[in-house]
Amino acid sequence: MKEALGCDYIINSWFYNMNTGKPVGNLKINGTVKANAGWNSYGLTWDDTDIRMEVIPDNGGKNYLSGVELLTPSKGPDARLSYDPAYGGTRGRSAVLLAGDYLILYCTGDGTADAKTPEAMRDDLVELGGQYANTAGLRALGLDSGGSSQCDFDGKKIYSSRRVAGYLAVWTKKAGNTDDTEDKPVSRKTVCLDPGHGPDTVNGSPDGTYKEKEFAWDMYTRISPLLEAHGVHTICTRTEDTNPSLTERANVSNKANATCYVSLHSNAAGNDGWYNASGLEIYTSQGPMTAQRNILASDLVNAFHAAGVSLRSSPIKHQMYTVLAKTDAPACLIEYGFHTSKEDVEKLKDSDYRDKLAEATAKGICTYLGVEWEETEVSELDKAVDKLAAAGLINSPDYWKAGDYSAENVRALLIKWAASL
Ligand SMILES: [Zn+2]
Repeated sequence: MKEALGCDYIINSWFYNMNTGKPVGNLKINGTVKANAGWNSYGLTWDDTDIRMEVIPDNGGKNYLSGVELLTPSKGPDARLSYDPAYGGTRGRSAVLLAGDYLILYCTGDGTADAKTPEAMRDDLVELGGQYANTAGLRALGLDSGGSSQCDFDGKKIYSSRRVAGYLAVWTKKAGNTDDTEDKPVSRKTVCLDPGHGPDTVNGSPDGTYKEKEFAWDMYTRISPLLEAHGVHTICTRTEDTNPSLTERANVSNKANATCYVSLHSNAAGNDGWYNASGLEIYTSQGPMTAQRNILASDLVNAFHAAGVSLRSSPIKHQMYTVLAKTDAPACLIEYGFHTSKEDVEKLKDSDYRDKLAEATAKGICTYLGVEWEETEVSELDKAVDKLAAAGLINSPDYWKAGDYSAENVRALLIKWAASL
């Protein structure tokens, strides 16, 4: 990740559920809430710069993250710490310390002589921070610990075999560089994906076997990794269990200055019951066809056509939908098919068909962005691993996907094995 991001420092970060890999506590990234704990606590927050400690989520900015309160306005250097027993003991530790103008990242290795109890870590931080600021003003947040404690500080590494999905990346300005526009990470294109609807939406097939909100979310989880694998950064307008307003969705894209915006939906005809209308269509706010939004729509239509997806007779339509009208970036809304069509909904429920739609969507977006599409070995491996795991032939699919094994030909073997099923 450090190499891919081009950052100077990277450290593991938020707490997550070991079974699902999903973040727990409060977490917001680039305007999108990724985890909502339902309680407030002191946490780290920042907008574009100036990381600070505030009560989150209430006083949080564009990004925030909760953890174990080590040093806060209400917890001084001698205060009693409160934490889940699972956080206790002598273990590898990670934390962020704010001392005056300094941002200090702290990491010790699990199972080493540097392993600490939470209290001993806090004492370390007080001593460390005291060199830079008055101890009363120190602020520190404990991050995920134990085997998750890992870092690469400008080449100095603490490493464990555990894969963590949450990390903080820090870029420093180089000496002599006073221009704010320089030294930014390699500029990557950002695509805002908008899985339509949310938990309280009932849209679905008349027989109740298909829900649009689930389809939209599932499509997002399939499209995003394909784009990321091609170096395209993705952001999302919602989490699986939130339903932001249409304006909020557009704002997520606008705040992140996204390169383009793609909303994911399925269509409905009539008022209730089954109808004949079928096929995929894409909406943009309006003509002319030379506008960027319509070029994006055309690239998507071409990709769906090439993939053999059945399209409406005139697949590009115009409508001033809020998410299309309020986004600064060129925006499209894809209606992948009609969930009121018996024929369409059978396809929309099919996992292989969703893969096909996701790949065509990612391809169309890459064409629009001028990003060369490559069939990556990794995605082929991922598919093979998923297939083998679904057949009950292997365990720990994430392990095999992450490539935590030495022999290169194991990849090829997995792919071959899956193909033989
Ligand atoms: Zn919809």
